[in-house]
Amino acid sequence: MKSLRVFAPATVANLSCGFDVLGCCLENVGDEMQISLSAEAGVRITKIEGADLPMATDKNVAGVAVIAMLAALNDTKTGVDIEIYKKIKAGSGIGSSAASSAGAVWAVNELLSRPFTNAQLVKFAMEGERLASGNAHADNVAPALLGGFTLVRSYAPLDVLKLHTPKDLFMTIIHPQIEVKTADSRRVVKPTVALKKAVTQWGNLGGFIAGLYTNDYDLIGRSLEDVIIEPMRSILIPEFENVKSTALENGALGAGISGSGPSIFALSKGKTTAEKVAKAIEKVYQPTGIIFDIHVAGINANGVTMVS
Ligand code: ADP
Repeated sequence: MKSLRVFAPATVANLSCGFDVLGCCLENVGDEMQISLSAEAGVRITKIEGADLPMATDKNVAGVAVIAMLAALNDTKTGVDIEIYKKIKAGSGIGSSAASSAGAVWAVNELLSRPFTNAQLVKFAMEGERLASGNAHADNVAPALLGGFTLVRSYAPLDVLKLHTPKDLFMTIIHPQIEVKTADSRRVVKPTVALKKAVTQWGNLGGFIAGLYTNDYDLIGRSLEDVIIEPMRSILIPEFENVKSTALENGALGAGISGSGPSIFALSKGKTTAEKVAKAIEKVYQPTGIIFDIHVAGINANGVTMVS
């Protein structure tokens, strides 16, 4: 096998109660990539369609992630050509950079007959995230590589777990096409947390994970609360409170900021409810005049996959 086409999925990180540690992988929303082994050593980005992103290998997250992977193998001979067909807009908050990093390392790993497990690939894909945001976070690349819901139990040493996914969970995502600079969304986050808020947050994180394992949708919904980051970041997203309350009124279990925004997610039990939520929040956004996309997606249990 010399060439592989993969689906590189979008992901929702943080999920309200799990800043930098929780994430989940989406069905149907994502990029495609064609990754080929080449006789010429080195990593190249040979084509990008659908977005204006850097072609230089060391400026593109896909290139940086594959370089990190080959370096870990002490491999100086392998040649890799990467084509990226972008559907997820960069800076949307649904893991555009993570999709490229994860898709590239997953495909190269397959082409090299799997020297690494998917869990081991996470740290290479994190190098792409370091390039994209200055912070090697794993909460998007872990679900993109492992599928389902994931928890980064620890960053040092890296310990990433795939969690149980209840069957009937569906995401509604609205992406208002405004620019929220990563620098701004970081600047508004204070570096210290009051103990009382921390207690609420880790109670919710534990509750959310218990809810996943017991298929307790009400517990999942009660736990989708963010008393730390959301109050600081939501001010950067127009109509955030309105979208959130509309989602809840229309039956969503919970709603919050997807990653660092500006996308907003709502999690629902059942596709019908998720579609109803989509219609209702669409009505909230139309009068703003802001261009937006809406997606309704199931939870993708597999992560990056081969496209036949
Ligand atoms: P997201 O949360 O949607 O991934 P980020 O702001 O974290 O958005 O990452 C996007 C940044 O990464 C942009 O500055 C973009 O130019 C850069 N980047 C480099 N390569 C890629 C790629 N292959 N896909 C997406 N973004 C990339």
